[in-house]
Order: sequence, then C-alpha cells, then structure tokens
Amino acid sequence: MLYLDDIKVEFESQGFRGTYLGISPEKDKTVLFFESNRSTKSVRCPNCGGSVYIYENGQVNLKDIPLWRGTSHTCNFFIHRYKCNCCQETFTEEIPFKYPGTRITYRAANWIKGFLQQKLSIKAIQELTGFHWDTIRKVQREIMDEAIWKRENDLKKEGYKPRILAVDEFAIHKGHSYATCVMDLEQGDILWVGKGRAMKDFEKFFEDIPSDSLSAVIAVVMDMNASYNKLVTKHLPKAQIVYDRFHMQSQFGRDVLGVVRLDEARKHKAKAKEILADIPEDADKETLKSLKQEAKAEKQEYSQLKKLRWSLLTNGEKLSERKTEHLQSILQDHHDLAVCYAMKEECADFMR
Ligand SMILES: [Zn+2]
Repeated sequence: MLYLDDIKVEFESQGFRGTYLGISPEKDKTVLFFESNRSTKSVRCPNCGGSVYIYENGQVNLKDIPLWRGTSHTCNFFIHRYKCNCCQETFTEEIPFKYPGTRITYRAANWIKGFLQQKLSIKAIQELTGFHWDTIRKVQREIMDEAIWKRENDLKKEGYKPRILAVDEFAIHKGHSYATCVMDLEQGDILWVGKGRAMKDFEKFFEDIPSDSLSAVIAVVMDMNASYNKLVTKHLPKAQIVYDRFHMQSQFGRDVLGVVRLDEARKHKAKAKEILADIPEDADKETLKSLKQEAKAEKQEYSQLKKLRWSLLTNGEKLSERKTEHLQSILQDHHDLAVCYAMKEECADFMR
C-alpha cells in the first residue's frame, strides 16, 4: 500500500532540488523540502568578488499555495551560508521563490493578488488562505504602489497639470490624530497626504510638490481653517480660494446657531432659578403656586431649546409639519435665534 508521505519528489528548479513531500498525520499540513544544489564555485562574494566556501547550512520556510482545500502548505529550503575566502564577509544564499519582504512564495503572492483584484477584504483573504494579515497587507500595498506609479507616469507623459485642488483634514488612529490631504478635484486623484493638520504640516505640501506642477492651479477649495488660505495665498497667489459650502453651513450651524441656541436656553434656566430664589418667605399659597408654575415654564423652555438642535440644522423643507409648527412657535419667542435661523435657510438657498 502506498502512503501519501511515501511519495518521492524529484525535480530541479532555479538552483534547488525538490527532494521530499511530507504530510502531517492529520493530513492538514504538507511540506515540500528543497535542497540547494548550487555549486559553490559559481558563487562569488558580493563585497569583493572573491571565492567563497559554505560555512553553515540554514533552513527557510515559505508559505505556499495549499495542495488541497483546507490544508496548509510550506516549502522548506535547505540553504547555504557562505563566507568569503578573501574578506571573510558572510552572506546567505538567495531563494528565487521568495516574495521580497515576506515569508511566502511568489506563487502565493500571486494567489493573494488575484483575491485583491476581486476586491475581497483582507479579512476574507486571511480566512481563505490562512496567511498572516501583515503579509496580505504588504502585497496589497505593492499593488497600490504599482497602480499609483503607473497613474503618475501616464499623467506625466500627457503633461497633465491639476487646475482645481481641494485640501481637507481627516482623522486617523480613531480620531486621536489628523492628516491633511490634497486632491485634484477634476480628476479625483489624491495628490498628497501629510501627517497633522497645522499650518506647518500643510506647508510640507508646497515643499514636496514642485511648484512647476502647480502652475496651472486656478482655484483651491478648502474649509474655513485659517492656516490653509494663508499658505495658498503665499504659494499660489493667482489661485482663487473657494470655501466649501458644506463646511460653511456646518460651521454656521455649530458656531452661530448652536451658540445662540444654548445662550437662549441658559437664559431660561437662569430665569427659573431666579424666580425660585426670589419667592418671599411669607408668600401665600396662591402666589407660591403661580411662581412655581412660572419657574416650571422657564425650565420647559430651557429643555425645549436644548432639544432643538436637530430641527434647527435640518433643511426647513425636510421637516415634518408637526416639527415645523413646533419650531416656528419657539422661534416666535426667541428673536435672536429666529434671525440666525432665517440666515441659515437663506444661506442654504443662496448656495443651492
Ligand atoms: Zn569578499
């Protein structure tokens, strides 16, 4: 009877000889053993070009494509370590099957690339292949680098120069720090990403990108972050600065509407407190009741205003009838808030 682990392999490839296929007793792991059959005479010292001798043997394991589903397959290489006869430099024999910077074979890397091109997530690929997350990430990164390099080269050949840029910040590391990103709004390409969001961080963009490639820029879109416009005016004096509508609206909502609303709300809270503090000790039952009711009404106003944030920020046309009525009744009693709200609606209309 022939046992699977009795199968003999005999083949040669790229300086190595396949010698044996090992299969684990559970049949879930296979190992293909390779030995170096490179003649020492053909190897030269990379440092001085002198002749070398083998001073040690080593072993390297590379993950490979499984021989069958649900198992793992490794290629085990017995390799030579050489020492130079002249300069004593030591170095290790290279394995041509090894995908650079990883512990997998080229074949396995191509397998991963196939999945990545099908837009599978890293987690899904990890489950399918059993390879390490970092390995898959590394292959993915290389695909992206290659694509970016090709795109850059194509644009360079065309003599393309961006005309309309957009700069914005975004949160990284779960919001603990920020990065700044510059995009070409017409082509949708990301031109530059830098750590941080301060003025000095964005300044690096102008250091990194040659000014010649920015010579066609006519406009830069940004939020109202003061440091961006100062730098654009300094480095691209001919470019128009365009404030992003959504940023403006959200900033108005937060810094104007929001502040005025909380201010008005606080006034009611203070008023309620004042009423309660001023109740005379000898107040009769009737007066006491009416003052307490008055204070209660102020508190209600306070909590209504506190809850009004969403209705104030939503586009007026999208509010339900009930909500609109409620909002209008509150605005009637709060002049400042009503003015700000009208400005917000007008502003949105104007930019629509
Ligand atoms: Zn040498």
